Amino acid sequence: KDMPQVTFKDAAGVDEAKQELAEVVDFLKHPVKYQKVGARIPRGVLLVGPAGVGKTLLARAVAGEAGVPFYSIAGSEFMEMFVGVGASRVRDLFETAKNSAPAIIFIDEIESIGRHRGAGASSSHGEQEQTLNQILVEMDGFTPNAGVIVLAATNRPDLLDPALTRPGRFDRRVMLELPDIEGRKEILEIHQKGKPISHEVSMEKLARRTVGFSGADLENMLNESAILAARDDRNEVTTKDLEEAATKVKMGPSRKRLQSDEDKRMTAYHEAGHAIAAHYLDNMDPVHRVSIVARGAALGFTMIPPKEDRYNQTEQRLLDNICALMGGRAAEEIFLKTMSVGASNDIERATQTARDMVVRYGMSSIGPRALPDDEQTNVGVWSMEKPIKYSDALMAQIDSEVNRIIKEQYERAKEILHQHRSDIEKVVDELMKSETLESDEFEALLADSTTVQEPLDQ
Ligand code: ADP
Ligand code: MG
Ligand code: ZN
Repeated sequence: KDMPQVTFKDAAGVDEAKQELAEVVDFLKHPVKYQKVGARIPRGVLLVGPAGVGKTLLARAVAGEAGVPFYSIAGSEFMEMFVGVGASRVRDLFETAKNSAPAIIFIDEIESIGRHRGAGASSSHGEQEQTLNQILVEMDGFTPNAGVIVLAATNRPDLLDPALTRPGRFDRRVMLELPDIEGRKEILEIHQKGKPISHEVSMEKLARRTVGFSGADLENMLNESAILAARDDRNEVTTKDLEEAATKVKMGPSRKRLQSDEDKRMTAYHEAGHAIAAHYLDNMDPVHRVSIVARGAALGFTMIPPKEDRYNQTEQRLLDNICALMGGRAAEEIFLKTMSVGASNDIERATQTARDMVVRYGMSSIGPRALPDDEQTNVGVWSMEKPIKYSDALMAQIDSEVNRIIKEQYERAKEILHQHRSDIEKVVDELMKSETLESDEFEALLADSTTVQEPLDQ
């Protein structure tokens, strides 16, 4: 029997979610209060948010706050089960929970069982269907106020079968978001306990520098930094440890690969292309670090972390982003007269952004029209229930607008790199010597740069 000890104090930066879940705690602790006045206690609450923001943590904290047992299962576990096993696991889970009510049932990654039946090709897998049906049966089956509340977590609510979110099932939604600067400060506070952080470290700066980090990323970063300190047999975690740990969390561990000089040079031009393009674009944040040290799957990287929390985007920023992504390939073409496979991830991301601009944000000649799309089936999807088939002409127009955006930004990137070719050469030389340039070194290198005026030959 799992009786979680965690409480709401262990989660930070998610105040609104905590407020809503406090109500669930109250239902569990004082059901009579609600029954007396005929209030229907919710059966299912969906926790929605990106990976690592504390969905599992909060679900456990609800049980911890209410002092009730916690029964959980993850959607991915069902993937490997034989037909019929999933459904019987669900039956058992609800049975056990009801017998020890009040209790919390937690279904993690619910989208992998409760995937919308029309979304994607493999969705009507028989096992999944049976498991989903069993969840629906169980949720409809237990009498209201039985003292069992089902929490489920997902990062893809758009994929959920609408049957799951009908009234009486998961009809409440609690949204969790990546923490803002205040949230990050509090999360750092929670997880730095027991780790001797040097006085030289500014938590304020660290919170500022970690825009886009989830709670799990922050915890990971602190842990990695402690490991780095321990490895050198130091008693304190330094800013340098934290910087390295942050990079590792976001980009993967660095890998010493024995690269030929020729490969290194290719990577150096590619990364210099990103960095220089970003540097001269008005809407890009400052380049934080450029490196040709391999990390994860990448041979090099250019880090441009957002310098502040932003909740909105503009067309100009999206275009500049695509342009900076194209900077890598553009440099290969201009300076090396070749193309490397290293640009594939850049191209994917740029294409995704361009596509979103066309089909979601109304930023193309098609105009402000929502064009929800499911790329696998070429069918537009509205609210998951009503597929729309687009005309071939419209599909072609979407494609041509996506192509146009990417091409224009690619040309723009080439023009910028051409104008600043001496900067590229400087950055490449420096990368070949020292492998990594921090923001101040990068800026210093470009201090006396020159611009080429004559246009790039096409
Ligand atoms: P999710 O379920 O949303 O993917 P988890 O709850 O599994 O995220 O988070 C993993 C770990 O990251 C937690 O156990 C906790 O240590 C840390 N963490 C995540 N979010 C927070 C938060 N909001 N406050 C404090 N710690 C957090
Ligand atoms: Mg989780
Ligand atoms: Zn790249």
